[in-house]
Amino acid sequence: MWPFNKNAQSPAAVIDAPVIQAERVTAFDLVRALPDPVMVIGRDGTVLMVNEQVKAALDADPLGLHLSATVRAPAVLDAVSDVIDGEAAHHVEYEIRFPVPRTFQAYVSPVGGPGCGMAVIVLRDLTREQQIERMRADFVANASHELRTPLASLSGFIETIQGAARNDEKAQTKFLGLMRSQADRMKRLIDDLLSLSRIEMNEHVRPNAEVDLAQVANHVRDVLGGMAKDAGCELRVTANGPLIVLGSRDELVQVVQNLAENALKYGSAGKLVEIDVRRDGATIEVSVRDHGPGIAAEHIPRLTERFYRVNVQDSRSRGGTGLGLAIVKHIVNRHRGRLTITSEIGRGSTFAIRIPAK
Ligand code: ADP
Repeated sequence: MWPFNKNAQSPAAVIDAPVIQAERVTAFDLVRALPDPVMVIGRDGTVLMVNEQVKAALDADPLGLHLSATVRAPAVLDAVSDVIDGEAAHHVEYEIRFPVPRTFQAYVSPVGGPGCGMAVIVLRDLTREQQIERMRADFVANASHELRTPLASLSGFIETIQGAARNDEKAQTKFLGLMRSQADRMKRLIDDLLSLSRIEMNEHVRPNAEVDLAQVANHVRDVLGGMAKDAGCELRVTANGPLIVLGSRDELVQVVQNLAENALKYGSAGKLVEIDVRRDGATIEVSVRDHGPGIAAEHIPRLTERFYRVNVQDSRSRGGTGLGLAIVKHIVNRHRGRLTITSEIGRGSTFAIRIPAK
């Protein structure tokens, strides 16, 4: 435990001394050259060497201070003390709360020969890794939950048809209709999950076919003509093409179609959905605007999260999966573009994408 043996020989000599080969490479040079945050601690707990990575990781410069001044985790302080007293190297994990919560793994190892009594700490920031792991676990839990709900209804209907409604043809017809809509919902979910995973897998590869976004917008208007009519809404396209980008036509159709479908699903009360395609400097912008109820500001930053919906029941009753905007975001990223969402309660929403023009 701290304080370490104060009478021990000062390690300063050792630090000044190490010269590896004839090239005058010192221990300092080695520490500085390492890609991970590394610090060397003396027997009395003073930080004797650090590299730039330590300063960045800890948001402080611990050089010359006692280790406990910057690393307040008892587990790390104990590990350093134990290692200096002769224990073998080991890993410890610790968390800091300020200025932002982060998790580090510290590899604490003895350095120098007998009596030298120094320790080296190599830090690894685990925060991002843990976040990704948590997101992955949440995603699996959400996807399973989304699939289990229609599956439970299907099982319930099958039981009813085999039991209470065994001889009731009218009830059977009704239940079969309901079963069909649950099966359709599962199919939509699986299709969206597969789309998302395919796009994510290719996200780093930029697609490079010539695509006319004016033509894409007109195509989407034709495809969604029936849906617009059912929603009692005019779907209007303004596009003086050609307006060419480099990309994947299928994916860009999916983007514009998802946005236009959402506008028709959630904003049809405004009776008009406008798709506008124009050149804006070096980019082509496609905006999809509705005049529906709009979206409250607190929801907007979260809309592209998987399975995030303002109103889950409302989305489900309209055949939504909660994945449409996540797919849009990934496709737009893959095209090195940007998605912006603006909305005002009572006045409608605009979802706009900007993709570099060819
Ligand atoms: P969903 O399958 O639920 O439509 P999306 O990812 O496409 O999933 O959209 C997420 C949520 O964003 C929707 O559930 C809805 O609450 C909200 N939303 C999307 N577009 C609009 C819009 N044009 N007007 C109002 N709300 C919208």
